[in-house]
Amino acid sequence: MLDLDFDNAFIRELPGDPRAGPGVREVAQAWSAVEPTPVAAPRLLAHSGEIAKALGITPDDVASARFARVFGGNELLPGMQPYAANYGGHQFGHWAGQLGDGRAITLGEAVTPTGERWELQLKGAGPTPYSRTADGRAVLRSSVREFLCSEAMHHLGVPTTRALSLVGTGEAVVRDMFYDGHPAPEPGAIVCRVAPSFLRFGNFELPSARGDLALLRRLADFCIPRDFPHLHGDREALRAAWFGEVCERTAVMVGHWMRVGFVHGVMNTDNMSILGLTIDYGPYGWIDNYDPDWTPNTTDRQHRRYRFGQQPAVAYWNLGRLAAALSPLFDGVEPLQAGLQRYIDAYTAADRDNTARKLGLAECREDDTDLMQALQDLMRLAEADMTLVFRALLDFAPDADPGGQPAAFTDAFGSAFYDPDKRAASAAAFEEWLARYAGRLREDPLSAAERRERMRLANPRYVLRNYLAQQAIDRATAGEPEAVMELLDVMRRPYDDQPGREAYAARRPDWARTKAGCSMLSCSS
Ligand code: AMP
Ligand code: MG
Repeated sequence: MLDLDFDNAFIRELPGDPRAGPGVREVAQAWSAVEPTPVAAPRLLAHSGEIAKALGITPDDVASARFARVFGGNELLPGMQPYAANYGGHQFGHWAGQLGDGRAITLGEAVTPTGERWELQLKGAGPTPYSRTADGRAVLRSSVREFLCSEAMHHLGVPTTRALSLVGTGEAVVRDMFYDGHPAPEPGAIVCRVAPSFLRFGNFELPSARGDLALLRRLADFCIPRDFPHLHGDREALRAAWFGEVCERTAVMVGHWMRVGFVHGVMNTDNMSILGLTIDYGPYGWIDNYDPDWTPNTTDRQHRRYRFGQQPAVAYWNLGRLAAALSPLFDGVEPLQAGLQRYIDAYTAADRDNTARKLGLAECREDDTDLMQALQDLMRLAEADMTLVFRALLDFAPDADPGGQPAAFTDAFGSAFYDPDKRAASAAAFEEWLARYAGRLREDPLSAAERRERMRLANPRYVLRNYLAQQAIDRATAGEPEAVMELLDVMRRPYDDQPGREAYAARRPDWARTKAGCSMLSCSS
């Protein structure tokens, strides 16, 4: 019963803090041993059946009281060796020094019979040496958001860390949600996050900034064979191939974010995975009305550094920080420059691929970038919903007369607007764009059925809109955690029309426009 095999390579192969347990301190090594702090009444609120299965955990195991105890931090399984990792990072453009896992505790690296490696990490499991002035805990609302979005992103085909479980702690956590001097108790929860590795850019930046080249080298020599086993070559070539692949994976990840309308919200280098996975779901958000300047993060309201449209540029800047950190491992700068160029090339390719797939074209021609840009400009001016507009285009008929479009298109397209006046004002411009699009489709070799399928798989019908997550949070807070599993179930098949679940595909309701959690989010979590 609930028996996993562990191979805790990270702590076996990398130097650890000579001191164990919590207690805020500077740590020179890669990790510190620290156990989760037990909670009052662990109770399983939601779980991912897919991840349980991948780990070889049966439904009976999931339903057991022991599962809630283990993933609430009250009991360790044989083979678990909990620790918090040490890393630094650039936050909002500035070097922040040592950060580390302030409330995340890795339990161990589970290895499945098929040879997959899954690091199991509790988020909100209590203080560590890296908790600084904070409590090491997490509130239910942010835990529901991390749990749901990790899984929703996976089902959308976006590289991401995963989530096994959401456990209520039965304890209150005090948070000043709006940073306005009104701290209040909220229910606490713990997510068990799962990924092949939680290594971040910041794990490499910290020893480099401290001039500890021995640790930097050990980290690279550890990460490459464990997490990039397909790479080969002599030392310099191997490291060059590794950095290049990190750049390429980052480009692919951000390309997906732009395709589905995801805004990470806090792209600090400590929140950038070396595996190119979306990591650390905090004040993230989803684009409703198309607005490249939108950020969900209230802390970033002024400069909007991490706004939707800036994510590709920020990822590049972050890779530049990683390149600088890794530079002592290379004889010259060429391999690092080549890696950064690989990011640009891969992102350009991903962007063109998004254009072709989202518009249902066999390939992205030179002028198709303009066609996409024109549509984005229109959506922005007209405050049209990104997800609904692209999904409506699946049913657009290029050969129909103006005014003779199928109802499936006109109804869906009509429902994409938030402001009737802006809709009316933009109607002629949209007609013009649709005529241009129709002309382009008539030159394209794909059949109508092929085009529709290509578009269906690039343009989700269901995304984890901010207000949907908030509704699940409100119900979970009111004692109905099954709301989380219900929403997860919708997000399992984001590209399918799911009859009876139309409400989950609706544009943001008016009440949600300015409601906390539905439009803007603070970092308080
Ligand atoms: P974030 O911006 O959420 O990625 O967090 C930045 C840093 O703050 C990381 O080192 C986190 O571990 C730490 N941190 C955030 N919230 C807490 C908390 N409640 N308790 C301890 N550390 C925290
Ligand atoms: Mg973080």
